[in-house]
Amino acid sequence: MSLRFNALNNLGKDPVEPITGTAKITAIFGENVFDLKKARQVLSDEAFKSLTSSIRAGQKIQRAVANQIANGIRAWAEAKGVTHYTHWFQPLTGTTAEKHDSFFTLKSDGTPIEEFEGDALIQQEPDASSFPSGGLRATFEARGYTAWDPSSPPFIMDIGAGKTLCIPTIFVSYTGESLDYKAPLLKAVEALNKAAVDVCNYFDKNVSKVSATLGWEQEYFVVDEAMFNARPDLLMCGRTVYGHNSAKNQQLEDHYFGSIPERIYTFMREFEEESYRLGIPLRTRHNEVAPAQFECAPIFEEINLAVDHNTLLMDVMARVATRHKLRVLLHEKPFAGINGSGKHNNWSMATDTGVNLLQPGKTPKTNLMFLTFFVNTIKAVHDHADLMRSSIASAPNDHRLGANEAPPAIISVFIGQYLTKVLEDVKERVGSKFDEQDESMLKIDIHKSIPELLMDNTDRNRTSPFAFTGNKFEFRAVGSSANCANPMTILNTIMADTLRNFKKEVDALMEKGEKKEIALMHVIREYIVSSEKVLFEGDGYSAAWEKEAEKRGLPNLKTTPLALDAMVTEKAKQLFEDNGIYSHSELEARHEIELEKYIKKVQIESRMMGELATGYILPPAIRYLNLLISNIRGLQDAGLDESHYANQKRIVSKISEHINKASELVEKMIEERKICNAIEDTRTKAIAYQSQIKDRFFDDLRYHVDKLELMVDDKEWYLPKYRELLFLR
Ligand code: ADP
Ligand code: MG
Repeated sequence: MSLRFNALNNLGKDPVEPITGTAKITAIFGENVFDLKKARQVLSDEAFKSLTSSIRAGQKIQRAVANQIANGIRAWAEAKGVTHYTHWFQPLTGTTAEKHDSFFTLKSDGTPIEEFEGDALIQQEPDASSFPSGGLRATFEARGYTAWDPSSPPFIMDIGAGKTLCIPTIFVSYTGESLDYKAPLLKAVEALNKAAVDVCNYFDKNVSKVSATLGWEQEYFVVDEAMFNARPDLLMCGRTVYGHNSAKNQQLEDHYFGSIPERIYTFMREFEEESYRLGIPLRTRHNEVAPAQFECAPIFEEINLAVDHNTLLMDVMARVATRHKLRVLLHEKPFAGINGSGKHNNWSMATDTGVNLLQPGKTPKTNLMFLTFFVNTIKAVHDHADLMRSSIASAPNDHRLGANEAPPAIISVFIGQYLTKVLEDVKERVGSKFDEQDESMLKIDIHKSIPELLMDNTDRNRTSPFAFTGNKFEFRAVGSSANCANPMTILNTIMADTLRNFKKEVDALMEKGEKKEIALMHVIREYIVSSEKVLFEGDGYSAAWEKEAEKRGLPNLKTTPLALDAMVTEKAKQLFEDNGIYSHSELEARHEIELEKYIKKVQIESRMMGELATGYILPPAIRYLNLLISNIRGLQDAGLDESHYANQKRIVSKISEHINKASELVEKMIEERKICNAIEDTRTKAIAYQSQIKDRFFDDLRYHVDKLELMVDDKEWYLPKYRELLFLR
């Protein structure tokens, strides 16, 4: 029996018993995290103080107290049954990495003991050679090390019967180049902190720290495990490379916010519970638009922690799903013809005085502060739209961007009608003359119009890649499988840079004797004027917008290899250097890594398409074709004339045409891959893979295979069909 029918026969048999308890969330929240409360319990005053000050300053733990802290963590972890520890980091492969060591060791006289030294907590040297480095290792030191980032607390991973203490770390080369997603993010967060505090101080001298905040929304699909295993393409590529649409998919719009199927619900409860223990503050869960698609979202957090929590959650989801004989698909486009999955990144900035800088204020002063940060964000996105685009570029996300279900590849900003009006007012009413009248007029206008906005948070546009949603911006073009760190590093960096320039310009006017408010308003006005072309309120999915965007001169890069160019322009190199995020060689390395990832993904898909066509699609099609042919022959033998089997003949001719075409395309694609593989230059090779392999063959080959799926005897077909993957559970 084929895996497909095996899966269908066994569906729903032996349901997995839920193991979730009935505990209140507050009773288990953070149970497996070494947070400050637990640190307070096990650490000496000295060690605790040192830990908290390292966290506040974003600095490494001091060696002098490291042993004490490590011992405290070990005591806490051992009491919970932990035997091993690992430095947990986020290399550029896109997944998380860990190498487990046990606390167990032998003393010089052979006595076995359990220990965890401060050094082991602070720094480790994993073998870096098999992680992507984009050539950095060739030019620099081969080794790398991981170092604890104390702003993200250690936690315990519960895997099967084993428990492991995980220390969140950055991963850098010995000469200091970042080899991961976290190190640059921390730098960007710090750059933004400095720049934003300086600007905040125009309004409030008490602000001494600004933290970027992130609340992500994770979309995903869930499919039955046996069904998944019967689809080599899901297994190898994370998406179906073939598959005809089922008669019904999402057109009735009956899945969104519908009741959650029980089997999925049990799974959700369980991964949520595990997430709560890990301190991930999940808040919402619901069905998404496509069948078998769901979403979860937490309460927002300080960005570094939010990123760790998202990567951790993706891992937890995958593990818990297996326990329920389900599989989570985080791919951006697992199924053609229905919606793909994104990961909206809700982003804002918060001061240590408790103010959300993107929350419209109640008084003229706080409104001016809001307007300052609001307009600076627009300006940042306007000036660096190409970088924003590159930050979300990946082979799987290319299927989604611009596919009329997700934001387009054109980066624009949606702000809603009230704020559009506010910006227009500012533009019109702030004259080029600096006079008292300007000041009083503006105070009144901004004060009056912004509170209205608060009443209408529903002014929503779902088609914009970057939308203001009341008190935060929402970067919607991020892909579901992406590590948020990359887009967030870019966003925080461009914001830091924009704010620093803003301050320079305001200071320059003030030095000339302008009053502070007037100086601020004038630079704000200038920024509105120079960046308004990035603002767009209309339908981002429409063809009209593509035309309009082109007229406005906004970049529209539809493919990853070209979108990635933005990472290595002179402008980008300067920007990242000025802000201390990436050196030129780090940028080039990352560019290379992204291109290589792209090439490999397309290559794997192309191989899979060939393999499936040859081994899974053509054999049943040919068998069925033979059946039809012998049927016709039998009718001929019976002496019937052609009118009796004219249609069978037509079917035979269609099937054989699709078989013939499919096999021809597979062969041609293999030949073309050989040509691509011989290309030396990575960028040229990536472009070739995109234009000569993906664009030339994928849709075409799929067309013939999907036609065969409709025509061939269902019981002969090996691959689970869309209706089975999406509707049965
Ligand atoms: P939706 O966008 O689906 O309507 P919400 O507006 O309630 O949902 O929030 C979506 C996400 O935005 C949540 O993850 C939430 O934590 C996050 N969020 C809310 N406020 C902020 C903020 N100030 N900074 C960052 N994220 C935020
Ligand atoms: Mg949202």
